[in-house]
Amino acid sequence: MSEYRFNTKCIQSGYSPKNGEPRVLPITQSTTFKYDSSAEMARLFDLEESGYFYTRLANPTNDAVAKKIADLEGGVGAMLTSSGQAASFYSIFNICSAGEHIISSAAIYGGTFNLIAVTMKKLGIECTFVSPDCTEEELEAAFKPNTKLIFGESLANPSLTVLDIEKFARVAHRNGVPLIIDNTFPTPVNLRPFEWGADIVIHSTTKYMDGHATAVGGVIVDSGNFDWEKHSDKYPGLTTPDDSYHGITYTEKFGRMAYITKLVAQLMRDLGSIQSPMNAFLLNLGLETLFLRVPRHCENAMKAAQWLESDDRISWIEYPDLKSSKYYELAQKYMPNGTSGVISFGIKGGREAATKFMDSLKLAAVVTHVADARTCVLHPASTTHRQLTDEQLYACGISPDLVRLSVGIEDIEDIIADLDSALGK
Ligand SMILES: *Cc1c(COP(=O)(O)O)cnc(C)c1O
Repeated sequence: MSEYRFNTKCIQSGYSPKNGEPRVLPITQSTTFKYDSSAEMARLFDLEESGYFYTRLANPTNDAVAKKIADLEGGVGAMLTSSGQAASFYSIFNICSAGEHIISSAAIYGGTFNLIAVTMKKLGIECTFVSPDCTEEELEAAFKPNTKLIFGESLANPSLTVLDIEKFARVAHRNGVPLIIDNTFPTPVNLRPFEWGADIVIHSTTKYMDGHATAVGGVIVDSGNFDWEKHSDKYPGLTTPDDSYHGITYTEKFGRMAYITKLVAQLMRDLGSIQSPMNAFLLNLGLETLFLRVPRHCENAMKAAQWLESDDRISWIEYPDLKSSKYYELAQKYMPNGTSGVISFGIKGGREAATKFMDSLKLAAVVTHVADARTCVLHPASTTHRQLTDEQLYACGISPDLVRLSVGIEDIEDIIADLDSALGK
């Protein structure tokens, strides 16, 4: 499949029916799979052979969709999860345990911030948060002898900071750890982090990948590039025998697929946040048009951003494609075709004016969602990020008056007319 161009892969990758089989990826709505002998099934259990036996571990629909996403990101393998949150958690927990340390950009999704700062801390994993704009020296200084990885968002939700992936990858690799990038907002249409040195990519597929707000889901993709064996003292879970799998050593047996195989064989086996095959099917429908939708989101968002920027009812605006953005240069480097459909801005009159504006919108809906076909708005300080203190909010790049506008693919004239009339009130 991978010899095709990107747009073709969106449609064709992951599933190639044989003679007489369904043209469209079927939903294998079955928890289990039948074998003629228990010996055959035992070989699957022992990871001696690949095949299906229980949907928590593998399912043909999920596998096809995971393969497609791996292909789009340029990775060697992928695993679907029930949500983006599960993907973030698994991607870290697969190579990091109690008593160890990670570094994360502070400009990340509110749910991920809580996951790392609160829940993973309870599990004994400590994190040092760094500014996404930190210097190489500052990043270097955050390292401890037990640091296992760096985590960041390529285009942060909702602050829209652009991460200098090359810089973060360089420092990570100098210290012998991988860089994990949440690439939800740009999608592989606009940015493929592996091309800039990232080692593992995750997504909340709930957003643009599904694109129609129908199914919550996540995915973890491995580039297969990080040399776990070279740093085997740091990653014994991958490079020494796994007693819960008859002494298999993942790097020895699976090579570049070691990280993904361990994710499935250990974490999915034990924690079980699988994506349902039905949701994987819906996700696949979204992926088929990803290359058409994302450029339209960007085109509409650019027009909306330019319109907002020139309007004097707006106090500030952040859209990295605008020349006025602090992140313009980085956005041009990493996402020359556009960042995403998401814009953040503040309205004169602060928090109160923001609420009034949102309540006056007619086309754009006030929803806890972002990045789907329909234009929507959210006030993070009172919703997704309401658990955070003002200090934490600012550290995440969010001001209390920030309105996050997710520009859909409707006619841009209608979107702007809606913004105009709501601002007028
Ligand atoms: C939404 C989101 C998540 C969490 O994903 P869910 O599918 O809602 O669990 C993680 N990262 C980013 C950047 C997101 O936008």
